[in-house]
Amino acid sequence: MYNKTLAQQAEALRKGEISSVELTRLYLDRIERLDGGLNAFITVDAEGALAQAAAADQRLASGDAPALCGVPIAHKDIFCTQGLRTSCASKMLDRFIAPYDATVVSRLHDAGVVVLGKTNMDEFAMGSSNETSWYGPVKNPWDTERVPGGSSGGSAAAVAARLCAAATGTDTGGSIRQPAALCGLTGLKPSYGRVSRYGMIAFASSLDQAGPMTRCAEDAALLLQAMAGFDPKDSTCAEEPVPDYCAGLNDDLRGLKIGLPREFFAEGLDAEVAASIEQAVTEFKRLGAELVDIQLPHNALSVPAYYVVAPAECSSNLARFDGVRFGHRCENPKDLEDLYKRSRQEGFGTEVKRRILIGTYALSAGYYDAYYLKAQQIRQLIANDFTEAFRQVDLILAPTTPETTFKLGEKTDDPVTMYLSDIYTIAVNLAGLPALSIPVAPVKGLPVGMQLIGRYFGEARLLNAAHRYQQATDWHLQAPSGI
Ligand code: GLN
Repeated sequence: MYNKTLAQQAEALRKGEISSVELTRLYLDRIERLDGGLNAFITVDAEGALAQAAAADQRLASGDAPALCGVPIAHKDIFCTQGLRTSCASKMLDRFIAPYDATVVSRLHDAGVVVLGKTNMDEFAMGSSNETSWYGPVKNPWDTERVPGGSSGGSAAAVAARLCAAATGTDTGGSIRQPAALCGLTGLKPSYGRVSRYGMIAFASSLDQAGPMTRCAEDAALLLQAMAGFDPKDSTCAEEPVPDYCAGLNDDLRGLKIGLPREFFAEGLDAEVAASIEQAVTEFKRLGAELVDIQLPHNALSVPAYYVVAPAECSSNLARFDGVRFGHRCENPKDLEDLYKRSRQEGFGTEVKRRILIGTYALSAGYYDAYYLKAQQIRQLIANDFTEAFRQVDLILAPTTPETTFKLGEKTDDPVTMYLSDIYTIAVNLAGLPALSIPVAPVKGLPVGMQLIGRYFGEARLLNAAHRYQQATDWHLQAPSGI
């Protein structure tokens, strides 16, 4: 059963082929046996999950069950969960128990899911390899000497290792798509404003978006359906109606125009990854799509612009962790200043401190124009490139990452090399667009992700193209061996 997709598991529950309690026990048992070697979970809530599963079974029996009733999933530990620890993988919040649920959590609860626990991640979602977590790195189930990607690495490893049917993630610069690519999953970053950020611990507020990490596009459509929509508690959440994401999954791709950005297939892209993407392009042609060369000339500036904007926003957002209101407080402070300084010094890890320093510097009075303002101008140029491209095409196709998963420790001493692993994902966040990553042919037994980028609020089109590709191929069904 654990090898079935979320859609198939929901169906099996509805037909009574398995109960939610049985399915939840199956996953809890797998977590118990396999997670010691992966470290995908920070918190497992066996008792809570079994209670939710028993309630789901009652609803299933009574016939008024919502769409995802009884399906066990996991939440990235960045979403506040009432009564259950929300750590953001930081020592700062190691003992933080949120007094309320994030909107994503409450909406999925209303859709009937069972929550198995909270997944590991990079500290405050800052990272591309899940090595900045205070709870230690996550291992990639395809090769446990390699990283699962980040920052939603725990969610990715958990879904890939079949420790849950699906999971939530967040994507500020690639943190859903990049780990999905490195772990052989489907990961969708929705348009900015599509999903509420209420109760999702803020990293960079103008970029953060929550989305599903699943085995296939159909599962992503089901989860997004439950997550998306206006929320009066988040002023940046769009008052835009939510379409039926499953309705158009099978639409014909004939005549669909797909753009191939020249800049994404240039220097820096691994040759075998490129060949895999080319093979997928051929498949899309076979499905009737028309491929067009396009340009995104400012993409090279996306990483430098992001590493001004994101740290600037994080330095402001993380100011709230002051040892007074939330989280870690140092022992015996001499005075208020000492309390602030030592609580933050002890509570935050190295990467988080690096970002706070860069952000505070970039926002300081003498440098604001040179850095922050400049980065915002570049951001506009990047958004304009996409607007121009979408005059000619319906979707954009690109690699998700320049290479397959790398070895644990390989890039930890060189932050700039680490930052460059997001070279193909970051522009999308700067422009606020939706994008997803789906698995294509692996390279040397390791997963490769292909990215599809859509127009603002164009999630349905993305899911349709991804679903048709997955109907024609079976890369998304492959599982790591030994699990
Ligand atoms: N890897 C990027 C960073 O370190 C993106 C992280 C994210 O999307 N949360 O900031």
